[in-house]
Amino acid sequence: MKTIGLLGGMSWESTELYYRLINEQVKRELGGLHSAKIAMVSVNFQEIEALQHQGHWQQAGELLAAAARQIEAAGADFLVICTNTMHKVVPQIEQVINIPILHLADSTAEIVKSRDIQTIGLLGTNFTMEQDFYRGRLADQHALRVVVPTADDRAVIHRIIYDELCLGIIRDESRQMYLEIMQKMAEQGAEGIIEGCTEIVLLVQQQHTDIPLFDTTAIHAAAAVAEALS
Ligand code: GLU
Repeated sequence: MKTIGLLGGMSWESTELYYRLINEQVKRELGGLHSAKIAMVSVNFQEIEALQHQGHWQQAGELLAAAARQIEAAGADFLVICTNTMHKVVPQIEQVINIPILHLADSTAEIVKSRDIQTIGLLGTNFTMEQDFYRGRLADQHALRVVVPTADDRAVIHRIIYDELCLGIIRDESRQMYLEIMQKMAEQGAEGIIEGCTEIVLLVQQQHTDIPLFDTTAIHAAAAVAEALS
């Protein structure tokens, strides 16, 4: 079994979920007392969030690159960055490590395409919904047509992620807002919706809607186990 490198803490509310999902799947697949081999570094999200919102991506990238080096030194065979947003600094991280990165957008796109979906809705932080490192990658590298909410709706999605979900606050009113925005995206042609922020699944699960949802936390955790056991 390969050792999975987890770069977590962004936020820990979803990293906890990664840890559980990965171990549960290893146990399901191998049985007995089997559990995942994991090397994890968990950062202080307050520092990362401040740098993101000040636009200091270079510095945020340096922090994550240093954490990734620690993970490699601890024996990880590959790296899992437990957040969609911080895939923005993947090129910076790749410069300082020799192990491969299991890219979240690629793992997700493969699952979306396996369901024969061409037009996909994308929810996440503004960075994820608007920028090339994620939205653009789905379109350019995976030939998916990507639908995102209007600017006003994106602001709602973004605010709830940082002010509630990353703090572990789950409110019915917020779920309702998410479901209404998802419905509008379906009306615009989205055949499914990527929950492109690792905390969204804490708020909205498949049981809440008929629109097919793609939970990036579960997809990434499953891809990590598949790689570890390959
Ligand atoms: N966990 C979130 C994501 O998947 C947002 C937190 C962050 O900015 O890293 O994008």
